[in-house]
Amino acid sequence: MKKRIALCVSCLLLCLCSAMAAVNIIPKPMSVEEKEGEFVFTKGFTIGYSDASLQPAATYLQEVLENETGFRFKTKLGKGKVQLSLVLPDENDESYELVCDKKGVLITAHSYRGIINGIATLRQLMPIECRQNFCLFGGFHEFYWGIPSVTIKDAPNFHWRGLMLDPVRHFFSVEETKRLLDQMALYKLNKFHWHLSDNEGFRMEVKAYPELTGDSMAWRRFNSHDRQCLDRAAKENNPAMLIPWKFIKEVEGFGELYGGYYTQDEIRDVIQYAAVRGIDVIPEIDMPGHNGSACWCYRWLSCTQDGREPLCLGRNSTIEFAEKVYDEVFQLFPYEYVSIGGDEVNRRRWSECSECKKRIESEGLKDVSELQAWFTKKMEKYFNAHGKRILGWDEILEGGLSKTATVHWWRGDHPDVTQKSTAMGNEVVLCPFTFLYFDYAQDDNTLRHIYDGDIVPVDLTAEQLKLIKGMQANIWCERIPTEARMQWMVFPRALALAEKAWTPRKDQNWDDFFPRLQAHLKRLDAMGIQYRPLQTKRP
Ligand SMILES: [Zn+2]
Repeated sequence: MKKRIALCVSCLLLCLCSAMAAVNIIPKPMSVEEKEGEFVFTKGFTIGYSDASLQPAATYLQEVLENETGFRFKTKLGKGKVQLSLVLPDENDESYELVCDKKGVLITAHSYRGIINGIATLRQLMPIECRQNFCLFGGFHEFYWGIPSVTIKDAPNFHWRGLMLDPVRHFFSVEETKRLLDQMALYKLNKFHWHLSDNEGFRMEVKAYPELTGDSMAWRRFNSHDRQCLDRAAKENNPAMLIPWKFIKEVEGFGELYGGYYTQDEIRDVIQYAAVRGIDVIPEIDMPGHNGSACWCYRWLSCTQDGREPLCLGRNSTIEFAEKVYDEVFQLFPYEYVSIGGDEVNRRRWSECSECKKRIESEGLKDVSELQAWFTKKMEKYFNAHGKRILGWDEILEGGLSKTATVHWWRGDHPDVTQKSTAMGNEVVLCPFTFLYFDYAQDDNTLRHIYDGDIVPVDLTAEQLKLIKGMQANIWCERIPTEARMQWMVFPRALALAEKAWTPRKDQNWDDFFPRLQAHLKRLDAMGIQYRPLQTKRP
């Protein structure tokens, strides 16, 4: 009995602490007005929603709150203690207002996404101790938690706030992918760019070409990246660098192979999970380069039929292959943007191929750069005819580009790319490797380098600035074999990215961000995220 009283007293102390905790929101909201008092959070209240379209958001919030607290909550169309309210609907408006007082919490927005942004803020207003108490004292429901009384008005600076994940070089399961999506939602990151094909494997089931994800294509023998990871695992005694057994299987005639792929049902499941959290999934099937796995699978895709990339653009059967693969991409992914990749193409192969040379001649093209541009434009027309918009890495600019293509600026050592693209009228998503390649090694200064950096080039005119859609970080996974390693590389950098993308530059201030970040590290701890500590000697 004495022990139980001691536990309750410690709970009460934690409650008081949490009620007095400061409001620490990342990314920094437009305005925060704190007031006296709190909303006391007890079990069993109802989450109300004003419009049937908000039902998935209410269920998502219910799941979050139940996971955090161990309490059970109800949802209903109508009024609740926590209320989600849609007014003057405008699906392009991501702003929201959150009002918390002793009677409850009201989130008002003009769109589903706005409501989701408000829920992200509410998740961050929840005392971190909820989760910890639940773990430690699950079963005792006498204690309570408080959410501080506050009015928050908020809207994003950029509409594109993303992360790109590469499950090709190392694979991530549907569950691991969903966990990343949930972490993105907590920080209002709303674009998940999914790099689904590359030289090392094809990760999306394509019904027209089932061999792409067959045993010898979606799975492979250990390569140099795997061996580097395993070497580091041994040298550093670091299990996060081990190749997970769950992605290794015995294949007759090949021995033990590493890999995996997503069935179309699994892809639909991920898209649905992301959509509930206000996240668009942007697929990338990289063409005409970075396509070695497809070329190896169907040798006729390659210039000399030897299985080496890039795709042979002289052959009509290759164009038909591209169209059929994208047909299935268009059917699966409901969003307007689809990435063609288009980076790092070994165009020399085309200059040595008689069929490619014939194409250059018959289309009146100058050189192999124009041959890639011809392919990109042809594909863009195909995308547009299916109601999609084309995205590509910044190499797609070379050889000419139509105005309606959107460019991912990744080559931070080519600072004029954004200047050039926007001068031509092309929209740009910023992801320069100099700031936003989260697979790059980090040291104790990396976070500040990102936070203080001019990711948006400073030499753009007001007209050009309008063409900047936003920014994203890329997680290339050659040396990221596990979810734990991914978390180490992504967090807390993703919090700096979130604020760079959401909060206007003039309101970004390191001295203001840093204490909020420290509070959030405790939240990441409570969530079990294995982030890189701010000061460390570990590489
Ligand atoms: Zn060729």
